[in-house]
Amino acid sequence: MAAEIIDGKRIAGEIKEKLKEEIKGLKKRGITPSLSAVQVGDDPGTRVYVRAQQKSCEKIGIEYKLHQFKENISQKELTEFIIRLNEDKTVSGIILQMPLPSQLDARLLQKMIDPEKDAEGVSPANMGMVVYGKPLLGPCTAMAVMELINSTGIKLYGKEAVMVGHSDIVGKPTALLLLDKFVTISVCHIATGERGSLPEYVAKGEILIVAVGKANLIKGEWIKEGAIVIDVGINRVEGKIVGDVEFEVAKEKASYITPVPGGVGAVTTAMLLKNTVEAAKLQNK
Ligand code: NAP
Repeated sequence: MAAEIIDGKRIAGEIKEKLKEEIKGLKKRGITPSLSAVQVGDDPGTRVYVRAQQKSCEKIGIEYKLHQFKENISQKELTEFIIRLNEDKTVSGIILQMPLPSQLDARLLQKMIDPEKDAEGVSPANMGMVVYGKPLLGPCTAMAVMELINSTGIKLYGKEAVMVGHSDIVGKPTALLLLDKFVTISVCHIATGERGSLPEYVAKGEILIVAVGKANLIKGEWIKEGAIVIDVGINRVEGKIVGDVEFEVAKEKASYITPVPGGVGAVTTAMLLKNTVEAAKLQNK
């Protein structure tokens, strides 16, 4: 039987509606959540993201401020600017747009963001808290994956999951969040692929999450009958956006599957908004 398509846009819409109500309440108490975006250079992809972020924020009542810097800004100058945002009481959340030019160390800059203002949940402090299962502000994509899995109503305790991809911002935190729910998880990466073991691991996954960035890497026929499939990948193929999973075949084997686009991406943005509201609350405890 064909899988149920998990509607990321609908789930994101529900999260945003709840946030909108919460923001109304916060505003009555004199608290206006605000997100400060820091952009270096003028990458066209980043421009699209920034515009989408601004629209999403404004729709639900979050103030959005874009701070754009020239390509040649130094690490010291940008660090000083982040410190100013940390100290600015009108700023609830900060997001550092990627990619950054090569003279800048993204890790060090993310480390400078106050963990209570880290809207993407990527600072070492927030990533560290994922180990304890209690992120102050969680990594947005990993949290989105959890929302999408939970939307199916599955009981996580004791399930077998497979995470393909072990990046710091998606694969590793997602694996830890699942582990915290007593899921037995296998994490696959480039070496798993090189060994030729991906099909064998994928076949074990009652829950399969893929975050690699290679179109159709995961063949539909590998997927376990009835699996929940969460496709994080974003790839442009012949002018179309596709995921990492061979969707048309996979949907005949899975019980639930996320589409690309319209799956993880939409909920990730909703998580950024949620973190901004959480940040505003943390600063007004
Ligand atoms: P990344 O940092 O490049 O990580 C990719 C991961 O895939 C790495 O762990 C890599 O392993 C692994 N990998 C590469 N080739 C493999 C293979 N043949 N077999 C198994 N594993 C392999 O990327 P990312 O930031 O996690 O993003 C992954 C994808 O998700 C991208 O398409 C990105 O655009 C998308 N994404 C989407 C959202 C969203 O909101 N929808 C958010 C974030 C990212 P090694 O490190 O060992 O090479």
